[in-house]
Amino acid sequence: MKKIVVAIDGFSSCGKSTMAKELARETGYIYVDTGAMYRAVSLFCIKNDWMTDTEMNETEIEKHIHSIRIEFRTNAQGKADTYLNGVNVETEIRTLEVANGASRVSTLGFVRKELVRQQQLMGEKKGIVMDGRDIGTVVFPNAELKIFLTASPQVRAQRRFLEMKEKDDSVNFEKVLANVLERDDRDQNRAESPLRKADDAIEIDNSDLSPAEQQAILMNLFRERTALD
Ligand code: C5P
Repeated sequence: MKKIVVAIDGFSSCGKSTMAKELARETGYIYVDTGAMYRAVSLFCIKNDWMTDTEMNETEIEKHIHSIRIEFRTNAQGKADTYLNGVNVETEIRTLEVANGASRVSTLGFVRKELVRQQQLMGEKKGIVMDGRDIGTVVFPNAELKIFLTASPQVRAQRRFLEMKEKDDSVNFEKVLANVLERDDRDQNRAESPLRKADDAIEIDNSDLSPAEQQAILMNLFRERTALD
């Protein structure tokens, strides 16, 4: 069976990472969460005061972009944690503030260029499942299997809300929905690598699919693509 690259793109909170992780687990492929990489850059900028709610210090960010080292290390539970310059930031990068910052730093061309370079290195040997916004269009335009995952904003906000509520009871649904809509708008309308479906990507709307149904569709596509020539 030949090794392939699987690119999974789509809007925020539509279950890309759940889908990608499950496929990687079933196939023994490496999973890379590129959103976590943009979140790590966002956290780095917030901590260094290069990004506030309203402003970004592009000069400082550009000066330091090459000193940001992002890695994924498997923890005792078998899950991949995100490390920023050697420090585990997996919990810290999952807040709304960092997510919002990620969608802002990801509009900067020099940030994208550096992260795309790192992502392409990670996928050089294939056998990889990568999820994000530009994987099928920019990072791996020749990926053998491309998925474009969608779901309605309400369904996506509800999923994110339930996930966040487990950790923080004060979380507010309207705020989560507003965050989802704001990020959709920014991801689709930015000048640099806006979110769009690659021409050869397969679109799956999972608003009414169970995780098992979605996984079955994906596994069939994976078997089909790895069996070719
Ligand atoms: O997927 P996740 O919500 O963790 O991504 C955080 C933000 O990073 C997104 O809102 C998006 O703006 C940005 N992103 C991106 N390109 C990617 C992955 C994420 O621009 N490949």
